[in-house]
Amino acid sequence: MNDLNIVYSNMLQIFSDCSMKFYWKYSKQISYPVLDKNFVVGKNIHALASYYLKGENISKMETALTPREQEFWEYLKTNKYFNLTPIGTEKNILKRLGKYWLGGRLDAIVKSGENVYILDYKTGGVKPDMTYNWQTMIYCLLCEDLLKEYKALSFVYIDLKNKQEVKIDFNADLKQEYEKRLIKVCDEINEFNPKKFQKPASCNCEYDKICE
Ligand code: SF4
Repeated sequence: MNDLNIVYSNMLQIFSDCSMKFYWKYSKQISYPVLDKNFVVGKNIHALASYYLKGENISKMETALTPREQEFWEYLKTNKYFNLTPIGTEKNILKRLGKYWLGGRLDAIVKSGENVYILDYKTGGVKPDMTYNWQTMIYCLLCEDLLKEYKALSFVYIDLKNKQEVKIDFNADLKQEYEKRLIKVCDEINEFNPKKFQKPASCNCEYDKICE
């Protein structure tokens, strides 16, 4: 497979789900449109949150929300982490890790004193333990690189669907483990050979027709 350019967490998730799917989507660049109502809702909430944290007047946008979006927004607007001091929103960051580049777009970074929190809003729910989720790993490393002075760094998933937070406290041991796992998966992607791939008998996805 071709050498990776910039590695994003969604790419790693696809590779973990099925290495052949990654090959079709990113190496062969074949994509199918995906109709996902959650995507539109998520996009609207992210835009609203970003304007709000930048201090823009969002009153007109708020009146245009659907009932579902309204419910998500009410939860987010009153969330204790979302109400901390913002230091960045919708931020694109890159970081070099070994021979790879990691990339990500952070929903928001907020702080309370010297404690810094990376926020990520999820409209589709999150698992109870996100410690070794690709997004957690990449975003913690990106932020750790970006921030100059902080006492503690945490990643907080704000689960708008289930109205709860999942928090991961970053530390030196996790940093080592994250770097190890990320380099390992990037090496696996680079070494992946589609000719040696065995398609499972019972699998099915949008690439089924072209996937031999
Ligand atoms: S059809 Fe199966 S093997 Fe092929 S890309 Fe999809 S999930 Fe992977």
